Amino acid sequence: MKIMIIDGKKVSKEIVEEYKEKFNKLNKEVNFAIIWIGEDNASEIYVKNKIKKCEYVGIKTKLYHLEETISEEEVLELIDELNKDSKVHGILLQSPVPQHIDIIKCFNKIDYKKDIDGFSNKSVGNLYLGRPFHISCTPKGIVRLLDYYQIDLNGLNVCIINRSNIVGKPLFHLLLERNATITMCHSKTKNLKEHTKMADIVISAVGKPKFITADMIKDKAIVIDVGISRIAGKVVGDVDFENVSKKASYITPVPGGVGPMTIAMILENIYNAVKEEI
Ligand code: NAP
Repeated sequence: MKIMIIDGKKVSKEIVEEYKEKFNKLNKEVNFAIIWIGEDNASEIYVKNKIKKCEYVGIKTKLYHLEETISEEEVLELIDELNKDSKVHGILLQSPVPQHIDIIKCFNKIDYKKDIDGFSNKSVGNLYLGRPFHISCTPKGIVRLLDYYQIDLNGLNVCIINRSNIVGKPLFHLLLERNATITMCHSKTKNLKEHTKMADIVISAVGKPKFITADMIKDKAIVIDVGISRIAGKVVGDVDFENVSKKASYITPVPGGVGPMTIAMILENIYNAVKEEI
């Protein structure tokens, strides 16, 4: 069977170049604040990648790398200052944060127009009501990839395995807007395979290598792998790529699938924040 690899690396490169040109044409200083608390290793890589891509397209980034012991109040104060600073166009709080800090409270403190990750109450509410401003970057990137490959979601059965605030829940709303019929699965779902087998599109964001096996999908299903795990220093997804790719019609690799799209969507959201201000 002819299989199509959904090449997120290529698509994201095109988007990055598009925004490099757009930011250049703006002829305006654009500032993006990233708050990173503590020393989480994975966060360090994500933060560095975000800074690198932003700088590449001409966005000035300022990293606020805060001590693990910082109080919630101090974080909220910093966000307040950044909200008020008219030179700052976007704010991103890197997760995870230390346990003593209420991340939802911090997300809610970010002015929704500067809320590049789209995690504040207002951003989430706008998405729920079908009038989004900033949409969280991973779900937005997934839908952008499907659009790029002209996959019409209208009436398709989609099985999402994830119900988190950053992936599953926003993705549900985006897919519903596109008239997909959605099944949300999670760790308490019984007979997961019955749900995945029914789906035209399976989107897995579990974080367990080889979680999705070939017997779990129907012939010609579209498989989107959001999961990121590390095995002996190598990044892998949730999908048993070697076997699932023999049965699927389209599939995203890991790395090089959904991951690069997340950063591309950050650039797009920053650009939208600046345009809103002009
Ligand atoms: P999370 O909050 O831990 O979500 C994992 C989800 O998987 C939960 O909904 C969980 O169910 C479900 N799950 C766990 N075990 C399961 C099982 N045996 N059967 C069915 N469902 C199961 O993590 P997250 O932050 O959403 O991230 C999920 C994965 O995506 C991670 O690997 C993360 O690294 C990756 N990710 C990638 C990107 C990217 O840019 N590519 C962005 C964000 C996240 P419960 O809700 O019941 O616990």
